[in-house]
Amino acid sequence: MFHSIRARIAVPYVVLTLITIAGLSAYTQSRFRATYLAQLEDRLAAEGAALAGAVVTQGPLSAEFLNPLAVTYGGFLDARVTFIGLDGAVLGDSHQDYRTMPSHLLRPEIQEALREGLGRSVRHSDTLDLRMLYVAVPVRAALSVAPDSAIAVVRVAVPISEVDAELARLRGVTLAAALVAVAVALVTAVVVANRTTKPIRQLERLAERFAAGDLGARLWPATQDEVARLTGAFNGMAAQLRQQMDTLAVEQGRMGAVLDHMADGALILDNEGNVSLANPAATRLLEIGRQSPIGRSFVQVARHHQLVDLWQQCRDWGGEQSATIEFGGKTFLQGIVTPLAPGQQRSGYLVILQDLTHIRRLETVRRDFISNISHELRTPLASLKALVETLRDGALDDPPAAERFLDLVETEVDTLAQMVQELLELSRIESGQVPLQLAAATAEALLLDPVERLRPQAERSGLHLECALPPGLPAVWADANRVQQVVTNLVHNAIKFTPPNGRVTCGAQQEGQAVVFWVKDTGVGISAKDLARVFERFYKADRARSGGGTGLGLAISRHIIDAHGGRIWAVSAEGKGSTFHFSLPVAPANPAMSG
Ligand code: ADP
Repeated sequence: MFHSIRARIAVPYVVLTLITIAGLSAYTQSRFRATYLAQLEDRLAAEGAALAGAVVTQGPLSAEFLNPLAVTYGGFLDARVTFIGLDGAVLGDSHQDYRTMPSHLLRPEIQEALREGLGRSVRHSDTLDLRMLYVAVPVRAALSVAPDSAIAVVRVAVPISEVDAELARLRGVTLAAALVAVAVALVTAVVVANRTTKPIRQLERLAERFAAGDLGARLWPATQDEVARLTGAFNGMAAQLRQQMDTLAVEQGRMGAVLDHMADGALILDNEGNVSLANPAATRLLEIGRQSPIGRSFVQVARHHQLVDLWQQCRDWGGEQSATIEFGGKTFLQGIVTPLAPGQQRSGYLVILQDLTHIRRLETVRRDFISNISHELRTPLASLKALVETLRDGALDDPPAAERFLDLVETEVDTLAQMVQELLELSRIESGQVPLQLAAATAEALLLDPVERLRPQAERSGLHLECALPPGLPAVWADANRVQQVVTNLVHNAIKFTPPNGRVTCGAQQEGQAVVFWVKDTGVGISAKDLARVFERFYKADRARSGGGTGLGLAISRHIIDAHGGRIWAVSAEGKGSTFHFSLPVAPANPAMSG
């Protein structure tokens, strides 16, 4: 009933008005009735006294005398007049046949009149079927006032239905006034309630807009009351909320950027082990593919028992758990699982995945490098030692043999010197200490010069060496000396690994914004297993182990081409020859612009 402020204001208004009017009308009616009856009583008492006096002086107290008198005076006074003897017998009545009337001795007003000199009573008259006011006065013997000197009683009565009618009218008026007052109270209450609740309703709408996310909404209070202060507080709250949301959004943005760009994979799991956040690195490292991991279980997303075990250990024992995990023999991940709020049971988990593959590979390369270099050095050193021992053991006494041994010693020393030289160069190139002297260079200059230098060697090996360039090839942007070094290496390899009567061909062609050079032979070819590794340092296919190369040539070539922003690759099938390609960017139209 009091669910709205309007009702809370209106109901007390109406109730208060009704109580006031009801109280006022009850009081007025009772006063009115009392006053009216008192006046009427006084009138009847005076008339009764006058009648009593008249009766004593005018005749005997017999029915014959009194009854006509009662009728006459009843007419005069517009009242019912009754004479009653001391024994209660009715001696005359203005409105009824006195002979049929019973004894009136026990009527209260008669008793009271005889006792106290004046009696009154209000009651229903069976004779007239009306509510009547009876006033009785004793008729005393002439000149006597003693209480017991009564000789008869005269009673005057009038109906009081008039009073009742008057009171009913009064009640009607009061009721009408009450209705008007209630209506006025209601209207006033509605107006007051509306004025009071209008700013509250506006506040309600403001709060709804806040809830819908419109924190820029504001309300300017038109008054100075409590609601205005509340509105002010609302505005302040929204401003603060907005500021906090902005800060939060900035924080979230930063966090998102960090997560998106960090190399480590990061996943957040809820208590049940469902993924609630995964950054791009995690998606990549776990090879999740296009399907979003969010909402899926970690078991499905990780698809690796070791990783799942790690999470379960963290869940069961609490505290950070980490382990190195191998994925299919090629990817190595360091997995770290930690509870998000340590010490609090079941608060979710953070999974960090660090990619160790590269470090592992570097470790392997370093290990291989050391073992290769020791291996490569061991062979020439061992031959040198053997040669020196042979010389010491007497070969020196045989000058022609000694000469031959010294030649062999020189070859081994040259090999060692070349290896050291190439290693130095490689390390300088790798550490970026050899700046490229870039300039526009023609394909002829890059390809034909080194080829011509190697032609005698090819002919000695009984090979057919041929180069052809299409007309109109654009110049490339390159360090000519370095690129010639690459070409020399490739052609030299081709000659080295092609048996007599084979062919070595080379050429170049434009492909988009690059010129692709190639050196092709009909030699021994490279197995698929070796092909993937020929550009590594010291890598030599088994067959070439005895060939005297260092295995560094292609590694150096790759570094040089990489430094030009180009690409080098090989296509080969074992026994069917190999083709080595490398690409170089076309020289810019205005070289000055490229620095
Ligand atoms: P090397 O000094 O041994 O030639 P490279 O780095 O130039 O060193 O070559 C590495 C290895 O690649 C060689 O040992 C050889 O096994 C293989 N290779 C390179 N070029 C050819 C080719 N044209 N045909 C066959 N195998 C080749």
